[in-house]
Amino acid sequence: MGGDDDIQILVVEDEVAIQRGLCDVLAYHGYRPTPVGTGEDGLREGLTNAYSLVLLDVMLPGLSGFDVCRELRESLPRLPILMLTARGSEEDVLRGFREGSDDYLTKPFSVSELLARIEALLRRAGKKAAAAPQPFAFGPWQVDPARLVAEREGASVELSRRELDMLALFAEERGRIVSRRALLQQVWGFDSPERIETRTVDMHIVKLRKKLGEEGRRLIETVRGEGYRLGA
Ligand code: CA
Repeated sequence: MGGDDDIQILVVEDEVAIQRGLCDVLAYHGYRPTPVGTGEDGLREGLTNAYSLVLLDVMLPGLSGFDVCRELRESLPRLPILMLTARGSEEDVLRGFREGSDDYLTKPFSVSELLARIEALLRRAGKKAAAAPQPFAFGPWQVDPARLVAEREGASVELSRRELDMLALFAEERGRIVSRRALLQQVWGFDSPERIETRTVDMHIVKLRKKLGEEGRRLIETVRGEGYRLGA
């Protein structure tokens, strides 16, 4: 499946060979890549021009990918950001999510995996824009998809797009069990997630529960060996 001529992708990668490879692949599949080699340039480009998605390397000279991600996220909460990490350590990944990345890929990755992640992020971003989704209740929280926030008396938390999609799916299922496989398919956009590390899902759940405060663990129940569900 190819891209679209109007889809501009910012590629922030300092290693010239990788940067060129990424841009070639993206251009070949119909996207319009713009390469930059430093975090500073990435930040400036991302804030100046309208990109549909940012591919962001973690290890950059000067401003790191984490710094760029955090700064972009502050100004552009809906911009899809896909982090590229060479290290692949859990800490790296968790930090990336904390700074607001939507997804990550560990180098080396396959072209098909890269394209699948990009397409999933773009699909989700596009779907959100087109559907004008309505606010919904999640336990004591009122979730507003348009603003990416969950609110209750005296509290307000910001949500990533992925967190929003997870909450929406749990709410839709009204207490039925949602398997990790279903989450990977419907939230991450993987067509056949058997190979994918399901720990990714668990890490996101941990983070999401924390955001929902003391009741987080009760609101998103673990069903051992099965998955998760919206708690009573
Ligand atoms: Ca690098």
